[in-house]
Amino acid sequence: MDKGIFETVEALCREHSLSHGEYKSLIEGYSPELAAYVAARAVTVRRGIYGNSVFVRGLIEISNYCKNDCLYCGIRRGNKNAERYRLTEEDILECADEGYGLGFRTFVLQGGEDAYYTDAVLCRVISGIKSRHPDCAVTLSLGERGCESYRALREAGADRYLLRHETANREHYARLHPPEMSFENRISCLYTLRELGYQVGCGFMVGSPYQTADDLASDLCFIEKFKPEMCGIGPFIPHHDTPLCDFPAGTLELTCFLLSIIRLIHPPVLLPATTALGTIDPRGRERGILAGANVVMPNLSPVSVRKKYELYDNKICTGEESAQCRGCLDARMESVGYKIVVDRGDAPGFEI
Ligand code: SAH
Repeated sequence: MDKGIFETVEALCREHSLSHGEYKSLIEGYSPELAAYVAARAVTVRRGIYGNSVFVRGLIEISNYCKNDCLYCGIRRGNKNAERYRLTEEDILECADEGYGLGFRTFVLQGGEDAYYTDAVLCRVISGIKSRHPDCAVTLSLGERGCESYRALREAGADRYLLRHETANREHYARLHPPEMSFENRISCLYTLRELGYQVGCGFMVGSPYQTADDLASDLCFIEKFKPEMCGIGPFIPHHDTPLCDFPAGTLELTCFLLSIIRLIHPPVLLPATTALGTIDPRGRERGILAGANVVMPNLSPVSVRKKYELYDNKICTGEESAQCRGCLDARMESVGYKIVVDRGDAPGFEI
């Protein structure tokens, strides 16, 4: 390993900060040895804060209707082959009830940007979950909405919001999204959410089409600056019915390397080993945890809709019942020396 890169990692461990150029050289200097070294440091840092606990979030995929046309996403409005569905308020509450019994204390409501879910509908769902399960956190992942909408949802009880920035480079953003979507609005939503008191998550896909080391360095600089409470990163995986279907998937190795670096940039960050990581490699989620991730997000959606929420090809866990997914992840985490805990898993400083 070249000594310069080794010193760069040491500086990152010490300062939690590097220049754009240093992040770029770290990424370009990837080697299995460097990745193992960074992962060891990341795991130590993570262990100091979270021990061997892994937080679990129950993911409820509420709708695959979407008004957006993101070029990489299988549920884009332009995909005429997607079989559309949406869950009713009752369906969502039932998923949460089932999840509660399985030990989930955070529910993530994720979906396309579906106008059916007005503020009134969502506020009822959020307060419904909160009144039935007051010890639980509600996380939303429903895309870009206005400030007043985010405020209403927050007042109804939503605790957290996941909105991946997708890429911190404006030109790259424009190559992944249709012209009517804007990088500025995406970033401005993140700052609005923070202002409203949400625990906020940003994130990006690893190996997305046209992505360069420069773009990834910009993502890391953005994370260093924004200091998100949560950060979702997973490999890009092509979906056969999208314009970007012919691009290769991101890799397990680069995703894990970036997970480790993000842990060192912002030690308390809540960092999931994503389903996409588990999709490109049978032990992807375990590898993610061993690289410094500390969250897993099994699926709580009704089995009847899971296959339809197809953001990318070959998504795992579409056939199993929620209880099976939960049991499977318990075993997977234990196999690498970690334990899923029954806990809201708030970011430090946000505990109730
Ligand atoms: N509509 C919401 C939720 C989007 S789905 C929103 O806009 O935030 C959650 C994430 O899945 C996206 O932010 C994107 O980063 C990821 N995703 C979408 N298509 C993907 C693909 N083909 N491969 C990997 N991840 C993908």
